[in-house]
Amino acid sequence: MTQIYDRVALIGLGLIASSMAHAMRAGGLAGEITGTARSAETRAVAAELGLCDRIYETAAEAVAGADLVVLATPVGVMEDIAREIAPHLAPGATVTDVGSVKRAVVDAVAPHMPEGVAFIPGHPLAGTEHSGPRSGFAELFENRWCILLPPEGAAPEAVARLRALWEAMGANVDLMEPDHHDLVLAVTSHAPHLIAYTMVGVADDLRRVTDSEVINYSAAGFRDFTRIAASDPTMWRDVFLTNKDATLEILGRFTEELFALQRAIRTGDGDHLHDYFTRTRAIRRGIIEAGQDTDAPNFGRGGSKT
Ligand code: NAP
Repeated sequence: MTQIYDRVALIGLGLIASSMAHAMRAGGLAGEITGTARSAETRAVAAELGLCDRIYETAAEAVAGADLVVLATPVGVMEDIAREIAPHLAPGATVTDVGSVKRAVVDAVAPHMPEGVAFIPGHPLAGTEHSGPRSGFAELFENRWCILLPPEGAAPEAVARLRALWEAMGANVDLMEPDHHDLVLAVTSHAPHLIAYTMVGVADDLRRVTDSEVINYSAAGFRDFTRIAASDPTMWRDVFLTNKDATLEILGRFTEELFALQRAIRTGDGDHLHDYFTRTRAIRRGIIEAGQDTDAPNFGRGGSKT
């Protein structure tokens, strides 16, 4: 049990913030946790679960006296929150966020940060398709990456302390620059989500999604698309609106590759298909070797895959 911050303020009390609350409590990492959320309902659930020591109606009240403030709302509202909390931040405090997009958050939040407050953006690469204060759990960040994006000139001790918090919550920490982060995440997360949304939408357009055939045989691949496509609509709307350029760049490349595969199918070019699938299979092996997924058949769900 090593206390890293005296008082942590969680702004937004959904999946990520509630998981942080559980993990910080489990490890004794924060002397006190305060919090706020937009709706009275979420604040009441958070109080019932004991996520925070004190819950406030406004972000301004929640951040008073905090040495760490975590913005854990959809990225689209972070600028308004930054403007609201700025006059109430304690001198020497660190402000971080957990948003899935980084350039837009840096541009929206950094200009509002007062002198003497360190703004160190972050992004834990951990999540589920569930949202809200009941969906969090202490182990969410275990063996997952958390990317921190300290601006040039950030106080090294502030960065080291935030890194120590994430490591104590089980994450591996890496440092990155915002534009590079957004391109990497467009490939690994944002474009795949859009493709999953599209695939489920196509099945729905065919009026087959709720057919017993589609449900019964969804283990053949479709089920994993439906899990991703069940992710929070507000969060993902904001991701695409704020990571527009990188996502469009990756989708452009995706479309080219898709056309090439489409052509290979049309012309019966089995070598092209086989070579392509051999390359992608090796990528999956790399992910498992890096400990970022399970090698168990069908993700350990039991039953056969097809
Ligand atoms: P979530 O479960 O939907 O929770 C969002 C929280 O933000 C809710 O408590 C919501 O309150 C609150 N909120 C929304 N607008 C607000 C406002 N104006 N003022 C105060 N609170 C407000 O979301 P999440 O999954 O934890 O995601 C939070 C952030 O983490 C997002 O920026 C997302 O991009 C990022 N992230 C998500 C994942 C993931 O897989 N889910 C992974 C990594 C990073 P109400 O409940 O009252 O509406």
